[in-house]
Amino acid sequence: MNSVTIDRTGASPLAEAKAPMTDPFGRAVTYLRVSVTDRCDFRCTYCMAENMTFLPKKDLLTLEELNRLCSAFIAKGVRKLRLTGGEPLVRKNVMFLVEELGKHVHAGRLDELTLTTNGSQLSRFAGQLADAGVRRINVSLDTLDPDKFKQITRWGELSKVMEGIDAAQAAGIHVKINAVALKDFNDAEIPAMMRWAHGRGMDLTLIETMPMGEIDEDRTDHYLPLSEMRDRLASEFSLSEIGYTTGGPARYLEVAETGGRLGLITPMTHNFCESCNRVRLTCTGTLYMCLGQDDAADLRTALRASDDDTYLSQVIDDAIARKPKGHDFIIDRTSNRPAVARHMSVTGG
Ligand code: SAM
Ligand code: SF4
Repeated sequence: MNSVTIDRTGASPLAEAKAPMTDPFGRAVTYLRVSVTDRCDFRCTYCMAENMTFLPKKDLLTLEELNRLCSAFIAKGVRKLRLTGGEPLVRKNVMFLVEELGKHVHAGRLDELTLTTNGSQLSRFAGQLADAGVRRINVSLDTLDPDKFKQITRWGELSKVMEGIDAAQAAGIHVKINAVALKDFNDAEIPAMMRWAHGRGMDLTLIETMPMGEIDEDRTDHYLPLSEMRDRLASEFSLSEIGYTTGGPARYLEVAETGGRLGLITPMTHNFCESCNRVRLTCTGTLYMCLGQDDAADLRTALRASDDDTYLSQVIDDAIARKPKGHDFIIDRTSNRPAVARHMSVTGG
């Protein structure tokens, strides 16, 4: 006769199986970021070279395969999923994937489905994103000046991004603005950007430039430690630390004068790895366990090896068991070589 073990904690074996994946340092991995394409309709100077070489299309996972991979992670306890890129909204039929993943939100298996976008295609897709269950998005925007916007993105139009932000807000999506802080480019503009964002009910998060992938210029020229930016802002605004979190790497300050929140993502000056809860999947099915390290797992082979997810699940577990303690980015002023060879557009930041 089979014996039944009574669990006095009240947790069923099934609930135990759904406990989040945990890495060797005891961090629960509950957040998956997925780069759905490495392609982009902009060429931001700090992100890519203008004549960037992209992956051959044949190497990409299909949207069905990406959906299967994401669903496998959700079954293993991932609660937050972010689509990114490259520019996620330039991938053909990307709304199929958004709608499939949105079903997990509607069913309560996923707490949040979100997106990081440059906003160029947002006016077209905002309504469909909201219908699919996307409640919040991040829009990357480094300046409010149309000429400077053209200069930094090389190919972008500020007015299109503004239309996209309007459409997203009209569709009821909460928008957060992400800006890379760049010395002698947008540092003087940050106070105005913060007033603008907060005036529209949007948080503003600043990001330090990270040495990822070869670009056409020297990143050290524009590197700005956010500790310095914070000191400058503190002379104009009353900033107070708050415990607010969106489950990502930003630390938040409340700004008394605007009533809004300022996020700081400081991979260079403050190592945020202790609380890292995320892993990153590329559009070819490569899983990176850390943004700043090269170790990766090939999930495409595991996915294609069988229609059953047992082997895939094992490969994911093995990868999580190798998640490193942290990254060690340095802006190297002597060699001028990036710390990580791949571009941010491969893993989506
Ligand atoms: N194309 C989308 C966008 O721009 O929002 C999503 C992908 S993009 C790679 C994600 C974020 O990474 C953007 O906010 C971008 O500004 C940031 N980023 C790109 N390269 C970076 C770098 N070298 N250092 C820091 N942030 C970077
Ligand atoms: Fe494209 Fe985003 Fe990189 Fe700009 S930061 S080039 S929008 S992927």
